[in-house]
Amino acid sequence: MKAIRVHEFGGPEVLRLEDIAKPKPGHRQVVLRVHAAGVNPVETYIRAGMYARKPALPYTPGTDGAGVVESIGEGLAHVHPGDRVYTTGSLTGTYAECALCEAAQVHPLPPTISFAQGACLFVPYYTAYRALFQCAAAQPGNAVLIHGASGGVGIAGVQLARAMGMTVIGSAGSDGGRALVREQGAHHVVDHTAPDYAKDVASLTGGRGVDVILEMLANVNLGRDLTMLAQNGRVVVIGSRGPVQIDPRETMSRDASIIGMLLFNATQEEKQRIHAALYAGMELGTVRPVVGAELPLAEAQRAHERIMGGGATGKIILIP
Ligand code: NAP
Repeated sequence: MKAIRVHEFGGPEVLRLEDIAKPKPGHRQVVLRVHAAGVNPVETYIRAGMYARKPALPYTPGTDGAGVVESIGEGLAHVHPGDRVYTTGSLTGTYAECALCEAAQVHPLPPTISFAQGACLFVPYYTAYRALFQCAAAQPGNAVLIHGASGGVGIAGVQLARAMGMTVIGSAGSDGGRALVREQGAHHVVDHTAPDYAKDVASLTGGRGVDVILEMLANVNLGRDLTMLAQNGRVVVIGSRGPVQIDPRETMSRDASIIGMLLFNATQEEKQRIHAALYAGMELGTVRPVVGAELPLAEAQRAHERIMGGGATGKIILIP
């Protein structure tokens, strides 16, 4: 089968399309025929060798995927060949025509959701859900700023917060991104490249500030985030690409909290709850993953260049 392989850590050019042996399922394992693989920023950090978790070389990247179960190992009653599923991880990587998964890593996909949309679910939606509800305990009626709302996690956050009855402010850096964020349910949009967007957030909340911020680039924004919080406000740090200076007094005056979160720390039970919530959202139409671009698997290098390039308008998907 065709798969993207990485033999050394480095730039996008280390992503190479190769022929490798197709995996075979062991006990309670599943071989998935991958119809779509989701591309996430974390895969660029791992590829560059800059991430805490380094895979043994050579490896195939990719956590998110969707497709059809091709074969199953013994010991499985609830998964069948032919099932449409999405992944929450895999043993062999999803940038490939087939991926070997533990049975607990595949989940049913509603018939109304395409494979490309299914490949948007795990890292983006599980992260947004965990940040909003399991970390920040966001409530209906809260005002939420989704900082970086035009990307994979941000769009998920906008849809989930809006469906739960929150007032949603989304930030994006391009006109196209802001139009998309509004279309996906944000009540208000701001430009995170404008010098005074914090004033806009203050006036949009009548001077009160926001209860929750989902932060995609904390090294740039965390100091200013604290000034935009309401009393008892919470910032969830989802993304950060370096150190940042903050004034801790901004937390004291508000009894505010800064909460770090990593999706890979989620327990199996938390993930099961998230799947149940997202499945209902997909059935009811409140969870609608947005595919920004579909590229052939062979163009994985271009996908990695694009995801780090800015001007996000939804997810980048690889099609084997
Ligand atoms: P993505 O699809 O590439 O989107 C990146 C987003 O960041 C875009 O909306 C982009 O907006 C926005 N952005 C760029 N400059 C910004 C700024 N100055 N202020 C605020 N936002 C800015 O990436 P993603 O999948 O949504 O992931 C977002 C971040 O979270 C990444 O750093 C990723 O590594 C991290 N992440 C962490 C976890 C975790 O477990 N903690 C899980 C998933 C993702 P424009 O393009 O419109 O400027």
